[in-house]
Amino acid sequence: MERPAFFDQAECRSVDTNIMYPEAGDLAMEAVAKAVCRSCVVVDQCLSYALKHKELQGVWGGDTELERHRRLTSIKTNRTRYNRRRRGA
Ligand code: SF4
Repeated sequence: MERPAFFDQAECRSVDTNIMYPEAGDLAMEAVAKAVCRSCVVVDQCLSYALKHKELQGVWGGDTELERHRRLTSIKTNRTRYNRRRRGA
């Protein structure tokens, strides 16, 4: 897959790739990856990209896989509620 344009400014380009892909449940390494994202100037673009492309692994835009999954589930739930309200259901 081609890298997105924002990646040219990514903070994680300067760290070992493995840091951004911690083992599930390794909270210490997740914290390290998130710290890298906190100092990244393209964090918003990165998170949007990861959500749009449903990136399944790694920390993207400061979120773990689980956190991205929760965001997507929340968006889907809110959209369903909104559509029901619009239909008067
Ligand atoms: S937000 Fe994190 S994962 Fe995304 S480009 Fe920046 S450092 Fe890399």
